[in-house]
Amino acid sequence: MAKHALVTGGGRGIGLAIATSLAGEGMRLTLVGRDRGRLEEAAKPLKATPIAADVSDPKAIERAHADAVVKSGPVDVLVNNAGIVETALVHKTSLKMWERLLRVNLTGAFLWSKAVVPAMVERKWGRIVNIGSTTSQRGYAYVAAYAASKHGLLGLTRSLAMEVAKAGVTVNAVCPGYTDTDIVSEAVKAIVAKTGKGEDFAEASLTQYNPQDRLIRPEEVAATVLWLVRPGSESVTGQAISLSGGEIM
Ligand code: NDP
Repeated sequence: MAKHALVTGGGRGIGLAIATSLAGEGMRLTLVGRDRGRLEEAAKPLKATPIAADVSDPKAIERAHADAVVKSGPVDVLVNNAGIVETALVHKTSLKMWERLLRVNLTGAFLWSKAVVPAMVERKWGRIVNIGSTTSQRGYAYVAAYAASKHGLLGLTRSLAMEVAKAGVTVNAVCPGYTDTDIVSEAVKAIVAKTGKGEDFAEASLTQYNPQDRLIRPEEVAATVLWLVRPGSESVTGQAISLSGGEIM
């Protein structure tokens, strides 16, 4: 039977690119996100099952997981992609913002992993791919809460990889630099508003970190996820794979 892949935040951006490439492999797909309308629209051409759930809500994850298993069987491939970004200097970061970022970006991935791992281990095959970031591997000003959540995601990735190494399950993180999605459009708008300078200046202030001087394309992230899921990458586990044009090495 075709494998079942579940992508959180699969309705747009990087998640949608990943979902599209997994659909191309003939997998049964479940897309999870909060915006039901957007999910349904994204799911239709991919023949995917859309399930509206907030990954910061443990009960919603439990329900969504149970729903997904009833509709498409145990999850073989989990892509923890749902994520949010908010920026502030540490002394201006509220406790609420800190907790919100950790809950969505880190605790959500923990709860989804916890839900799917027992069946993967039992079936002796599974792939978990966490979408980290260059902020999983280095710090930048203004993003302490986001970077803490993405560093934490790497800790989860590495430890879980050790726990399931003998069970045919691999756990990896794909860590892109600034990627051309809504997150970057919002960042560009915020920089323009703050500095009063043009969009070119704003975009350059983001691409300056990438030695290739460009944004990553969502399809590049999807291609790396595909490699981790396809036969041939069985020995790759516990890794943080940097997609950053050489920024991280
Ligand atoms: P987008 O803002 O385009 O998409 C984010 C996705 O996450 C949406 O599908 C959104 O769906 C979903 N999401 C957000 N919060 C929740 C929640 N509480 N529950 C369920 N789903 C949620 O971002 P990207 O595609 O750019 O980002 C995807 C991932 O890649 C994130 O983890 C991000 O941190 C990471 N990343 C992005 C980079 C970039 O520059 N774009 C660089 C490095 C990493 P909905 O709104 O329907 O809930």
